[in-house]
Amino acid sequence: MKKSGNYSGIDCFRLIAALLIVAIHTSPLLSFNETADFILTRIIARVAVPFFFMTSGFFLISRYSCNHEKLKVFIKKTAIIYGIAILIYIPINIYKGYFSMDNLLPNIIKDIVFDGTFYHLWYLPASIIGAAIAWYMVKRWGYSKALIVCVILYIIGMFGDSYFGIAEQVGVLKQFYTLIFQLSDYTRNGIFFAPIFFVLGGMIADTNFKSSFQINGIAFVVTFVLMFVEAMTLHTFEVQRHDSMYVFLPVCMFFLFQLLLYWKKKRFTLIRMAALIIYIIHPMMIVIVHFLSKFLGDIIVENSLVNYLVVCLLSILFSMIATVVINNFTASRKSIKKKWCFETERAWIELNLDNLAYNVNALQKVMPEKSTLMAVVKTQAYGHGAFQIATSLNQMGVKAFAVATIDEGIQLRTYGISGEILILGYTNPNRAKELKKYDLMQTLIDMKYAKALNRQGITVKAHIKIDTGMNRLGVSFENINEVKMIFSMKYIKVCGIYTHLCCADSLLPEDVEFSENQIDNFYYLIDKLKERGVQIPKVHIQSSYGLLNYPQLACDYVRIGIALYGVLSKSDKNTRVKLDLHPVLSLKARVVLIRSVSKQDTVSYGRSFQAKRDSLIAIVSIGYGDGVPRELSCQKGGVLIRGQYAPIVGRICMDQLAVDITEIEDVSVGNVATLIGFDTIDISAPNVAEHFDSISNELLCRMGTRLPIIIK
Ligand SMILES: *Cc1c(COP(=O)(O)O)cnc(C)c1O
Repeated sequence: MKKSGNYSGIDCFRLIAALLIVAIHTSPLLSFNETADFILTRIIARVAVPFFFMTSGFFLISRYSCNHEKLKVFIKKTAIIYGIAILIYIPINIYKGYFSMDNLLPNIIKDIVFDGTFYHLWYLPASIIGAAIAWYMVKRWGYSKALIVCVILYIIGMFGDSYFGIAEQVGVLKQFYTLIFQLSDYTRNGIFFAPIFFVLGGMIADTNFKSSFQINGIAFVVTFVLMFVEAMTLHTFEVQRHDSMYVFLPVCMFFLFQLLLYWKKKRFTLIRMAALIIYIIHPMMIVIVHFLSKFLGDIIVENSLVNYLVVCLLSILFSMIATVVINNFTASRKSIKKKWCFETERAWIELNLDNLAYNVNALQKVMPEKSTLMAVVKTQAYGHGAFQIATSLNQMGVKAFAVATIDEGIQLRTYGISGEILILGYTNPNRAKELKKYDLMQTLIDMKYAKALNRQGITVKAHIKIDTGMNRLGVSFENINEVKMIFSMKYIKVCGIYTHLCCADSLLPEDVEFSENQIDNFYYLIDKLKERGVQIPKVHIQSSYGLLNYPQLACDYVRIGIALYGVLSKSDKNTRVKLDLHPVLSLKARVVLIRSVSKQDTVSYGRSFQAKRDSLIAIVSIGYGDGVPRELSCQKGGVLIRGQYAPIVGRICMDQLAVDITEIEDVSVGNVATLIGFDTIDISAPNVAEHFDSISNELLCRMGTRLPIIIK
């Protein structure tokens, strides 16, 4: 999600990397000094391809992806580019006699899958294979495990590459690599080489590595020098079979890439395409320069530096022209696409994730120091979209979540959410296996339930719910022995114990007394358990109002739902701690039709609205099927259009509603109607909820099934 920035550093380094790759294939310094050429083409330039893999990984790989769409698009795009490149090089392959080799078919397959049908094209199939491997490993195992596997793959690759001289000494290894080399000319391919860089790229994107520019800079220089020493040593002792896989290459790339991220100003999108074209076309230019030397003199091939510069010049020139042409060709298509942003053509939810971050911060400031924020993301994160909210909270560093059902919990895991997930509601005990598999913590809603879960014979993590007066879920605080027994159950690992306050939102003296009584009951139980030698696990009591009205409680977790989303349940803001929270969600829809109705005409089902004057009515494309409460029909609710209030007239339908815009000037089809949000007039969730005797929690929960969710 934070990947939308303007990464000038990455954009510009693409060009440098492309020119370094040209250097690898032309050896610019060879006419002058062999060692210098080795240093340039076999050490310095070796950062180029890993950089491209990391860049792809950075934008592609994420633990947080709700489906495989992005991977599919990447593979398709790369495959098309590869296909075009293969076609471009067919004439040269014919000229070089490629098609007259022995075992043509197996070799073609091998080349297409691993080695590339022209020497430099290996990069494209490696991209596809590397991306797929990295994607599935990260999704399945998370970064640490994926990285371990990639490191192992890389080490295997290394011994078939820069360290082959060592592997060659050992009989079994030699056999092993001989076998590999029958399938792929090098281990520098999509299986052994590319995945680690894709994973590193994704890891950098998903994780907040908080190190300074200086530290990164120093680390890069140090690791680069180490790689230099490593490469020179291997070179001196002639250990290499091929020199592209050094121990220090991934380490040094990790720091180099982070350095590039510091430069964030403008986007240079054209460079992206230009670099790709240079990459694909430069071997063609090498051939052309050879051909041109017949007319322009041998210097352009005989002097390696001149040769390099001429090849670069031609490649850049060609890529610039091609970029401009392709860009003009696609620009017209893009502008059409932009105009038709499908997600906002009817009705949609708009999220402001900066506000979410702001609320997390504000809430954490009033929480006791040792307390952890447990983000309650049940019911699609209160209608905001569990995927968007949970992934962005996880990226902000929130590590504890609560949901209502096991399926919500599993869903979070498939989104890649790490950390603790507590299920607040009932789960059928015979799903214990899934609780374990997805590492979910189950609430024990009473003694009978705890026993049933224990009987499954599968160790599950659990929190004991204690009833202290709400009379909903939980073991009564008075049943100390029962609670103690749960702690000794063989297959229940008690990680927490908690209660829920039933009137924490009220500051009426009798309600405060009741809540304080609940709190006392809870701690009475905790003390009794301590007395009986029970090791007390994590404790928690407060929800949003619990925190705002009873901030003095020092619990291990605070289970925050509604306040995270920047609103309270009611518009009454009277709480002991007053927080300026920022609403995360706005609900919007388009005006799709405007009609005039005459005095006495009726609008919508049941003819419940009759115009008292000639009126202008706008039809807005959102209805109760999208979560708009039908109770807001007939002037009880309204929308904001062009900053002005337009009352809902007639009954709200499943997919549409009508508003009176007689008094608003210049409304046109396509205008946006805001149903929940802040504009000139406050129609925030608590306010709207009050129009139908409800609370914002319910209003928000109704959404999030049919509506697309867009991030502002
Ligand atoms: C939903 C829920 C919460 C969150 O409540 P908010 O008032 O939205 O903060 C906390 N605890 C339990 C047990 C819940 O069911």
